[in-house]
Parts: sequence; C-alpha cells; structure tokens
Amino acid sequence: MNGIKRFFSQLPAYVLWLLFSVMFWSWIVTLRTDTTADKKVTLFLDVPAVEDAALSGALEQSLPAGLKMVKAHSFSYVLFQQDALRAADLYVLPASEMEEFCPDLLPLEGFAAADGWTKDGALYGLRCHRAAGGDAAFVTYTAPDRTPEDHYICVAKDSLHIADGAALQVALRFLELMDMLPSEQNEPAAARTPDDFILGMDLSSVLAEEASGVRYRDFVGSERDIFRLLADNGVTHIRVRVWNDPYDAAGNGYGGGNCDTAHAAEIGRRAAAAGMKLIVDFHYSDFWADPGKQMVPKAWAGMTTQEKSNALGAFTADALRTITEAGADVAMVQIGNETNAYLCGERDWDAIALLMQSGAKAVRETCPAALVALHFTNPERAGAYADYARQLDARGVDYDVFASSWYPYWHGTLDNLSAVLTEIAEDYGKKVMVMETSYAWTTEDSDFFGNTVGAGNEAGWPFTAEGQAAAIGAVIDTVSEIPGGIGVVYWEGAWIGVGGTSWKENSAGWEKHGSGWASSFAAEYDPADAGRWYGGYAVDNQALFAPDGTALPSLRVFSRLRGSA
Ligand code: CA
Repeated sequence: MNGIKRFFSQLPAYVLWLLFSVMFWSWIVTLRTDTTADKKVTLFLDVPAVEDAALSGALEQSLPAGLKMVKAHSFSYVLFQQDALRAADLYVLPASEMEEFCPDLLPLEGFAAADGWTKDGALYGLRCHRAAGGDAAFVTYTAPDRTPEDHYICVAKDSLHIADGAALQVALRFLELMDMLPSEQNEPAAARTPDDFILGMDLSSVLAEEASGVRYRDFVGSERDIFRLLADNGVTHIRVRVWNDPYDAAGNGYGGGNCDTAHAAEIGRRAAAAGMKLIVDFHYSDFWADPGKQMVPKAWAGMTTQEKSNALGAFTADALRTITEAGADVAMVQIGNETNAYLCGERDWDAIALLMQSGAKAVRETCPAALVALHFTNPERAGAYADYARQLDARGVDYDVFASSWYPYWHGTLDNLSAVLTEIAEDYGKKVMVMETSYAWTTEDSDFFGNTVGAGNEAGWPFTAEGQAAAIGAVIDTVSEIPGGIGVVYWEGAWIGVGGTSWKENSAGWEKHGSGWASSFAAEYDPADAGRWYGGYAVDNQALFAPDGTALPSLRVFSRLRGSA
C-alpha cells in the first residue's frame, strides 16, 4: 500500500518527468533534423511503432539524397515540432489531426472536394483524395507563402495501417511524380544542357484553347498562367506559327489556333512577361504548311516569283514589327515551316532561295538580334539534308540555324538525326536544332477526334508520362551533344481537348475559337484536307498536360535536364 501511496503522491513528478523526457527527445530530434534544414524535402511520418520498422525502413531505403525523413511515434511529437513541420516540404502524418494542431497547414480550398483514391491511379498524389471509408485522406498541399515547388503530403493515420503498405506506396508514388526518387531516369543531371541551350515549347494554339475554356494547372492542381507555369519549369523559348490570313471573308477562323500575326504578338507579349523569348514560325500560307502542303496565301495568288518575294519580305517585316512592338523578345525567326525543297507554292530551288533570302533580309533589318532559321523535316531520308544545305549554300542564302523536326515514330533514329545535323554543322558552320518533337504519354484520345498515334506505335519508350519525359530527354541529350546544337522545341505541349463529353461539345469550341486542327471554314482554302477532315486534335495524347489541364510530371523534364530541378 505504501508503494502505491508513494506512487500517487509523486505522480505529478512522474508526469513532469515524462513531459520533460518527451520535450528533451523532441529537442534532440529537432537538432538532428535542423542540421539538414537546407535540404529540399522533409518527410514526416507518424508511424505506429509496430509498423515503423517495415514502413519507414522501406521508405528510408528509397529516399534520395536531399530528402530528410522525420519519424514520429506519436502525434505528441508534432505538438512540439510545429516549427519543424512548417519548415518541411513534405510530410506524412495524420490528416485528421492537422486541422486541430496545424491550422495554417490545411489543404488549399478546392482540394477537399476531390474524391476517390485508388492505388493505381495515374494522377495519384497530385490531388486530394479521400478513401471510400472517409477516414483516410491523402492530400498534396501547396502553402500560400511558398513557391509552387514546395509540397506537403499528409496521409491519414488510418491509411498508414493498411496492411498492403498503401501509405508507403502513396509516398513513393508522390516522390516519383515529383522526380525525387533516385533512379536512372531521375538522376540529377548535372547540367546536361548548357545554360543557353534552348528548351522551347510551341504554344501556337494557346489563345484558342483559353478562349474555348481550357485552364492550365500545376502539378498539384492549382490554376496557373500557362506561360509562367512553363517558365517556372525551365522552358526558355515559346514558338508560335504565323499564318498570313487564316480567316474566310466573313471573318471565320480556319482553326489550328487561328494563328495570325495578332495572335503571335499576344503570345509573344505573354511569353516575354514570363521571361521567355519567342521563336516566330512563318508558314507563308493562310493555313498549315508542311512537306506535302505549301499553299500560297490568298493575297499572293497569281503573283510572279519576284512579286511573291517582295510580298514575303514586306509581310515578314510588318509582322515582326507588330510582334516586337507588343513587347515580344524575338530570338529566332523561321523562314518557312518544314520546307523540304518546297515553299509557298515554289518547288524550284532558285525560287525557294529567292523567297528565303527575302525573308532573311527582313529579319536582319527588323530584328537584327534574332537568328534566322530554316526548317526542314524527314531527317531519315538519306542525303536529303546534305542536299538542302548544298542548294542553300550554292545560292548564298543567309541563315544561321538549320532546324529539323524529329518525331520518333517516323523520323529514323536519334543516331541518324545526330549524324545528319552534325554534317550540316561541320560542313557549313551552321547552328542546328530540333524545332519540333513530341511523344505520347497515353494511348487514350480525349477530344473525340482520333489521334495519329496509339497503342502499338511506341517508338522506343512506353506511352506513359515517364516514357514521354525519357523521350524528350533523349532528344535534348542528342542535340546538346552535337557541336552547334542549340536547342529543342516541344511541339504544342499544351494543346488538349477543350472539354465536354461529346464530339459536339468539343466541336463548338473548335468552330467558334479555332481550337481544333481545322474548322469547317477552312474548307474554302484547303478543300482536299481540311474540307474533308476538319475537327479536333489528333495529338492531344502527346501534350504535357492531362485532359483537365493539370501538368503531367513529364513537364519537369526541362528543369531537370538543366540541372536546376
Ligand atoms: Ca484527339
């Protein structure tokens, strides 16, 4: 009895001692964790002791350098660690208790409305998900006072008890999505590309997309200005195509973004506002120009080659003045798009050279700081590029950059691309680059308009976001290793379906705002192609954004290759 009495008489002392112990060890842990406060990410685990070894042990095995993990065996730890918690970039702890103890770390508005999480969901970890039972929540969180690159994860306590290790998978999946896992693909690429290497994005259709209601979101689902989002993720240059007059007499747009000079000026202005330069891609046509199609603008029909050359020079100068006056920072100008010995209706090299020379002269006079680029495709055709370069050289065409498209499905190997571009760079002292490339991340179509690439068309990488990033990385690596290789531009990475659950709903946006590849109004100008096949978009599965506008993890590839991720 005396023992029990003595125990109770000294109970306050025991409690004090217990509290002191907890505080002391918390302080010790704080000291330890704070020594790595400069690291990018902290993972907080509130782990029941019995599961600790398996769960946190497995996580520790997978943690890359730069990620610190704090294990808490009881939530009381969190009470003492709010400062450390706030300093963390990532933690896993009971979401149910977040509200009470860390009111300033609540999920952002809108996240809580999301529902349904499954272990295999492709976007796992990018949203708030709530388990069917309602008591387990997985939330990614961007703090208002931090950059969008800082992320938090909370996993509800109950989910940590799931026998199949779902919490571990959640955490690992998140790290994977954020490119934080050490793996071959995610190895921090110690500046694999030089600082001035162009990491570009063709964004020609963006205004039509926005007009059709498309909104873009960052990795955690927060709506962002697409230009700033791209700039934040390492994109340095925006490319925009210019059609002379992509409208019918009644003012209806032909589609494909209705990319006229005014569109290019606005895109250039927004790119500059976000700190990015502009690559202007003159098609010298009223609609799509490519190796099979180089239709003369309506206004130039019937002109002699010399008259057309004069008109082309004047149009180039006028457009560049409009674009630069809008505030664009024009770094490069293309004279023609995918001109394989074919430009603006001309197939004769003397005529083509005359037109190119006229465009180049207008660039030199209007934007003297800009590079003049010529753009070709089909690098897989033996001897073709060498022939183009020889023809240009023989006629003294003034240009700086010999640019190529490279689509993995059709354009031969990267080794071949490297070989043919290296030859041009060495023989003629030209800069070289890939002006267009893309790769699919899914086989699914999202706009009820069939896609050009689907299951079975894989060309070296799986059709996943990871495969897409790997494909982009391979192209960038290839070009950056060529002497004279100055950049890679991804083609239309933000062109996605405009929403709606049917062809008809999407079609309304395509017709009204030009957000599909061609509207019905293009039939008058391009009856054989647009007139028959007008509609949505055949490459939406090659965007770097999901159908709802959320950035795919593959968008991180640019900053990662720059070595700044
Ligand atoms: Ca499609």
